[in-house]
Amino acid sequence: MTISLGIPTRRRLPADLPPRPDGIPGLLDTYGRTATDLRISLTDRCNLRCTYCMPAEGLPTQPTSSLLQAAEIGRLTRIAVQELGVRQVRFTGGEPLLRGDLVDIIAACATLEPRPEISLTTNAIGLAARASALRAAGLDRINVSLDTVHAATFLEVTRRPFLDRVLAGIDAAAATGLTPIKINAVLLRGVNDDQAAELLEWSLARGHQLRFIEQMPLDADHAWNRTSMVTAAEIRERIAERFTLTPDVEPRDGAPAELFRVHPLGGGEAIGLVGIIASVSEPFCTDCRRVRLTAEGGVRSCLFSHTETDLLGPMRAGASDSEIATLWRDAMWAKPAGHGLDTGDFVQPTRTMSAIGG
Ligand code: SAM
Ligand code: SF4
Repeated sequence: MTISLGIPTRRRLPADLPPRPDGIPGLLDTYGRTATDLRISLTDRCNLRCTYCMPAEGLPTQPTSSLLQAAEIGRLTRIAVQELGVRQVRFTGGEPLLRGDLVDIIAACATLEPRPEISLTTNAIGLAARASALRAAGLDRINVSLDTVHAATFLEVTRRPFLDRVLAGIDAAAATGLTPIKINAVLLRGVNDDQAAELLEWSLARGHQLRFIEQMPLDADHAWNRTSMVTAAEIRERIAERFTLTPDVEPRDGAPAELFRVHPLGGGEAIGLVGIIASVSEPFCTDCRRVRLTAEGGVRSCLFSHTETDLLGPMRAGASDSEIATLWRDAMWAKPAGHGLDTGDFVQPTRTMSAIGG
């Protein structure tokens, strides 16, 4: 069903689903996967307008009263960690640094037993002033989105002239010990695809770990195009203009990024690592361990879901921890086999990446 805000919600499981067995711990689905990696969106607002994510004019945002409050995030995180086996919690958005209570949210998460690994995905605007407080609150790792180190290209991709602020944020995060910093980059044909090797050089020189993410059809403008997107194979070719890549020897272990060792052109000792997340051309759905909570408290079992299970409504209506855990388990039990991008009948979700939580 679709409620008036255009947000999909699911109250009942699909009729053809086998019943979920009782007594199984964790967020299991019918394909035998168990989600242990929770991504929580803290807001649908953002101070950039990346072309692959948001439209130039922005998107209608939810009123603050419809968003999870810090105490509600604390409660849901506790249920996830203590009742549902979640081991990693990543805060994202929208732009999570826009939440004034981010330090408190992280500090509460850091008190949980067992202590989850806590990470943040951010565009780093404003990070310079907050990095040390976030670190002190218990933040373990940080991913910063940076698609270029050229001011003109940054403006073209994000529609905002804020490259300097992002770079200052990255430097502050490094200075406070949030290392190694992961840099997330999306390549767009004709915009920054010729800068792949340069961005890698820049990252390696500073000890940051660069990960390229294939552009996915989650943009508000519906401009994504399978034939024009820059694939993982092309990204490897672009990097090979300046470096030699060899597969990393460590087992991938369900991680979305395929890691490569980076060597000087022609060979020699490895000087670092680079990751490529090939969600479109080389999907890894069979190993997916992720579960998402939107900023309004909706469980999404898949980034590309067309349905969500509302937890905020029941929580505000007085649901117990065990009732919330059951709703959450049921939502994950119905997780689809895959996102379907590799099939002809893929339909883009109505929510954009910024409104889901990347
Ligand atoms: N605002 C923060 C940021 O940009 O890091 C957090 C939210 S953002 C939605 C999370 C990640 O999603 C970013 O690394 C961004 O590059 C990525 N992303 C956004 N739209 C995407 C798309 N259409 N395809 C692939 N990655 C995308
Ligand atoms: Fe904002 Fe992140 Fe989307 Fe860019 S990718 S518009 S920074 S939410």
